[in-house]
Amino acid sequence: MKPQHTWMNGRIVPWDESRIHVNSDALLRGASVFEGLRAYRSADGGDLLLFRVHDHMHRLFGTSMRFLRMRSAYGPVELVQGVIDLLRANEVHDDAHARVVVYFDETEWGRELDAPTGAYVLAFERPQSPKVRTGVRVTLSPWRRLSDNAMSPRVKASANYLNSRVAMVDARVKGYDTALLLNDRGKVSEGPGQNVFLVRDGVLITPRKTDAILEGVTRATVMELAAARDVRVEEREVDPTELYVADELFFAGTAVEVQPIVEIDGYQVGDGTMGALTGRLQTAYFDLVRGRTAAPDGWCTPVYGQRVAV
Ligand code: PMP
Repeated sequence: MKPQHTWMNGRIVPWDESRIHVNSDALLRGASVFEGLRAYRSADGGDLLLFRVHDHMHRLFGTSMRFLRMRSAYGPVELVQGVIDLLRANEVHDDAHARVVVYFDETEWGRELDAPTGAYVLAFERPQSPKVRTGVRVTLSPWRRLSDNAMSPRVKASANYLNSRVAMVDARVKGYDTALLLNDRGKVSEGPGQNVFLVRDGVLITPRKTDAILEGVTRATVMELAAARDVRVEEREVDPTELYVADELFFAGTAVEVQPIVEIDGYQVGDGTMGALTGRLQTAYFDLVRGRTAAPDGWCTPVYGQRVAV
């Protein structure tokens, strides 16, 4: 079912009236940046909690918009308030996914340096996928992840997601759930919209921030959860063959959460079900996002309980 409203440029707007012009640079060149957020129904059932929304805003403003020299009439506090206002307007009380987008609007030819921008927020109820428990089957994509020298995956720019889409659609056509992409050096980077982790001999391994990945909020969360449980964590280059011989593999991302990979290119991972460490980290992650265990300040922002702290 379609949500009733969006938030556009400071106002709650009916869904069918939420429009930007066909002449916007957002459409022509994919000149927009975005963040995907999740809100979780709290363990006590009393509220909806936005997970690490300030860290998402930090990436939006500090990396994506900064790199693209994008200015916005709306700052991080206003956008977070926009997400909260929209979830309230749509009367969302269960697990939800929200998207915050800042876009380049209609731009006169040759006036890119002072192109106007706009911002909008979408929010959808999004129950947990059964694949969080059963896991996904993946294939190494024939398509390489964009390189930092071309258009960096570190920047969460809409145009980058055509690379992701091509890889994902290719994987689906071949009968897999999704893809894993190598970078231009032939090392493991990430999934189309999620970071990847391996477990080998009890060590948790993930590609470095310089291996053509988005610097994921969930990735950082998982690394902290692992370290707090005395699991050794290595950020390093990962060879493709390591994926095929890993004891456990999983994806981490706001949308996919902590999602086991149970098969890659016909290689069964472990016994074909969620691995033990993956399971522990997944449980810890869900306890955290639902406010069942204590989170650092600012990680769980209540949607109904209070206004945003400035
Ligand atoms: N990589 C890509 C390409 C993504 O789009 C995402 C989702 N934003 C991630 C990784 C995971 O990032 P996060 O945990 O911050 O959602």
